[in-house]
Amino acid sequence: MSRALPSSRAMAIVMFLAIISWAAILSSESKYIAYNTTQRIVPEKINVHLVPHSHDDVGWLKTVDQYYVGANNSIRGACVQNVLDSVISALLDDKNRKFIYVEMAFFLRWWRQQSEAMKVKVMELVNSGQLEFINGAMCMHDEATPHYIDLIDQTTLGHQFIKAEFGKVPRIGWQIDPFGHSAVQAYLLGAELGFDSLFFARIDYQDRAKRLNEKSLEIIWQGSKSLGSSSQIFTGIFPRHYDPPDGFTFEINDVSPPIQDDTLLFDYNVQERVNDFVAAALAQANVTRTNHIMWTMGTDFRYQYANSWFRQMDKFIHYVNEDGRVNALYSTPSIYTDAKYAANENWPRKTEDFFPYADHPNAYWTGYFTSRPAFKGYVRMMSGYYLAARQLEFFKGRSSSGPNTDALADALALAQHHDAVSGTERQHVAADYAKRLYMGYTEAEKLVSSSLAFLADSRSSARQGNPTTNIQQCPLLNISFCPPSEAVLSDGKSLVVVVYNSLGWRREEVIRIPVSSEKVFVQDSDGREIESQLLPLSNATLSIRNYYVKAYIGKSPNGALKYWLAFPASVPPLGFSTYIVSIAKQTGPSSTISMVYKSDGSTNNTIEVGQGSLKLLYSADEGKLTNYVNSRNMVSAFAEQSYSYYSGNDGTDEDPQASGAYVFRPNVTFPIKSEHLVPLTVIRGPVLDEVHQQLNPWISQITRVFKGKEHAEVEFSIGPIPADDGIGKEITTQIRTTLKTNKTFYTDSNGRDFIKRVRDFRTDWDLQVKQPVAGNYYPVYLINLGIYVQDSNTELSVLVDRSVGGTSLVDGQIELMLHRRLLHDDSRGVGEALNETVCVLDKCEGLTIQGKFYLRIDQVGEGAKWRRTVGQEIYSPLLLAFTEQDGNNWISSHVPTFSAIDPSYALPNNIAVITLQELENGKVLLRLAHLYEIGEDKDYSVMASVELKKLFPNKKISKVTEMSLSANQERAEMEKKRLTWKVEGPAEEPKVVRGGPVDPAKLVVELAPMEIRSFFINFDYLQMFVS
Ligand SMILES: [Zn+2]
Repeated sequence: MSRALPSSRAMAIVMFLAIISWAAILSSESKYIAYNTTQRIVPEKINVHLVPHSHDDVGWLKTVDQYYVGANNSIRGACVQNVLDSVISALLDDKNRKFIYVEMAFFLRWWRQQSEAMKVKVMELVNSGQLEFINGAMCMHDEATPHYIDLIDQTTLGHQFIKAEFGKVPRIGWQIDPFGHSAVQAYLLGAELGFDSLFFARIDYQDRAKRLNEKSLEIIWQGSKSLGSSSQIFTGIFPRHYDPPDGFTFEINDVSPPIQDDTLLFDYNVQERVNDFVAAALAQANVTRTNHIMWTMGTDFRYQYANSWFRQMDKFIHYVNEDGRVNALYSTPSIYTDAKYAANENWPRKTEDFFPYADHPNAYWTGYFTSRPAFKGYVRMMSGYYLAARQLEFFKGRSSSGPNTDALADALALAQHHDAVSGTERQHVAADYAKRLYMGYTEAEKLVSSSLAFLADSRSSARQGNPTTNIQQCPLLNISFCPPSEAVLSDGKSLVVVVYNSLGWRREEVIRIPVSSEKVFVQDSDGREIESQLLPLSNATLSIRNYYVKAYIGKSPNGALKYWLAFPASVPPLGFSTYIVSIAKQTGPSSTISMVYKSDGSTNNTIEVGQGSLKLLYSADEGKLTNYVNSRNMVSAFAEQSYSYYSGNDGTDEDPQASGAYVFRPNVTFPIKSEHLVPLTVIRGPVLDEVHQQLNPWISQITRVFKGKEHAEVEFSIGPIPADDGIGKEITTQIRTTLKTNKTFYTDSNGRDFIKRVRDFRTDWDLQVKQPVAGNYYPVYLINLGIYVQDSNTELSVLVDRSVGGTSLVDGQIELMLHRRLLHDDSRGVGEALNETVCVLDKCEGLTIQGKFYLRIDQVGEGAKWRRTVGQEIYSPLLLAFTEQDGNNWISSHVPTFSAIDPSYALPNNIAVITLQELENGKVLLRLAHLYEIGEDKDYSVMASVELKKLFPNKKISKVTEMSLSANQERAEMEKKRLTWKVEGPAEEPKVVRGGPVDPAKLVVELAPMEIRSFFINFDYLQMFVS
């Protein structure tokens, strides 16, 4: 804008005003000013809600403890202890000031260090509403990569702490930083917690532009198709980010001009700053409905010297309100939400989710869906283990002195942070999260072993004290390392395998354990021989075992491991079975040694794999999968699988955006050809068939087809990804079929609802896709549970064992991104390249990962049953524990099979127990989840019921209280308080169905599709389990 010369008349006015203001300054006294900060909402004005906050990551560039105490400040000057100390004292100075605190992992650390006198003061601040807990979970979790059960658990932990210490129930969701927002966050971790609103900053830049234009940044979000308006939530998206408007940041080193109102000093600027404030307020009011706007006064690790902020806000509130054009007040998101509600406005409706997130045409934040795949796998593995461990802890009775599951709970909670399982933290911080998980696991492992021993021990004397039985587990079983199964057999004793099932239905699954003998046999607990099979280990398996055992425990594994022993186990619901593995006698029964067939690629035969109704056909000369045939349901489909990689963009083209921990910016895609390395090796036997493939020197896979199962399990090993050529690589696999899927595919939201995706399309806006390198630009979606595509006849489903990025780039195809190794930082703050390495002594190499995916092809409409049932089984794998016996001393003195529930009962196939836990306060928390969406399956998308009396057959239930999702308030109380928002447009949904109240006599819980219900159960007495 060019500036015009002022006319003489205008000059005269300016002079006149200057004289007046000078006079005003002379008349005011430059001494103590009592700022009036008492302002409340003024209905007829634009109200600027100043919300003081600090965004405190529970680990990112520094570890959670380093951030808390202010260590490692050369990386980043950040000390959360300073934040809390100085905020509390600033709040005590003026009762009109307010502050919200979000991350309970930090608050807990601070709280336990405070004196009783300080606790009393803080309690008063909380009671008066000056200090409000917002969100109130242990961390501000990521919304893309965690499983919904982890989200519930980490939120429950924080909410239970707030309830116990302060008697408060957080009202507001505050997910300001996560990189995109999930449907499950809105309805489950929002409405079902009883939250009245949810706020965040990051959405796609094109979406934001449209919403700014249409004043639709504030919406009613209905995240669930099944629960519809019964689980909707008022959602506010910030106009820009979660910091204040430009010029209003006041940390001690910030550059915003402070208000200077002392007339004895230079640079008096009150009117100028008031004008700035009013201008910024009007600009925001222009894109916001109603006359309430929120300013998020703070950002990352701010308020380390809180007075620096509060001093300025005091003055702004004082002078802006003297000015009178807008109304400024200390506020919180709760006050803001109530004001929005009182305005009685109609709000736009939003369904589905806010993925993927792009902040720039070349910057899709979809790389983190796969970043740090080994850590993501570890988090998922620990999550399933934690679920099982809490059940076993409950069966035995919780011990507050330990061992218990508390440390694992804390570690898992931290791991859900938006810079933890997301993979966007620095390397040393990732190591810190993994170490905490390991320490938590180690304690939970002791608990699991002692609980299993307790439940198995039939002698009442042992039940009183500590069971003496030595039960071991094998946390490194995934890299084929299990000392008890390898060693026990070698000295002539028998191996006892206790198999625990944490699901509510009976499972028949194949167990695989490493053994070093080739003459063994397996018996069930009645002494019947079980068909079993020995499978040779692949070279890839052995080399991962040798390298990583040394990396983890500091020494090479002993002995020569020869085989995997595989046998089918049948395990009752919430219970265990026992199997005995012994050395075979010369003449006795013995496990079948697999037939090994190596295709040398010289014939053009078809190789058929599979002992049951599922057959996979491979082309011998090309060494690859060609067909999938299921003789039971007559599905026969062309199916191919391959690997390729994207070269990560290094940011040296016209845009400096590199591919990195957050951003996926591919350059070129390269197919990976097997290059006549090793042809197919097929291993056959009575229990399962395996196909071993070496795709290149650093990618191999084993495809398993189990007799009696109708899916293929693919175990891949990828790494070390070569990077000597200076190029980062992102490794993908593709499954191709001829399904005509019309650009459409489905991916899950945090392992729960499936959301329809259409290639190059967004429901909420007209997507503009910029293609910097032609044909090379692909947004990727997030998969926690699975992905599927379908046409009018057939559907192809893939399930995963951890969160990964995935998409469908061409019709009939599914692509998964399995591993990434990148050499450049992507400029989103972490300041490190995602280049994970593993070292043994001084020798380091790129990280190798091993993981699984599962695939199945069904007639259309049949896939949901498999995705939901097997999806739950993948999340909760059978837990294996080992001990030994001489003769048959274990079997004769122990309970070989156990189920916590009535022997005649099992949960319906559409229900899972997602929490069964005795809390610290002695209450028993039960959470049941319906696994199907409305309309998803013709048999299972129906109301289901659970008989509590049969779930707890040996206990007398005296009271059942339905609670909110985080169990911090009664459900009825929560429903009573729920705000009823008005939504624009016609109501389009059918009537929402939910389970009815629980009759105290019948004690039957009903669950409608996608419903999760949480209960506190009171028992008359906690009776020991006796079978
Ligand atoms: Zn953050």
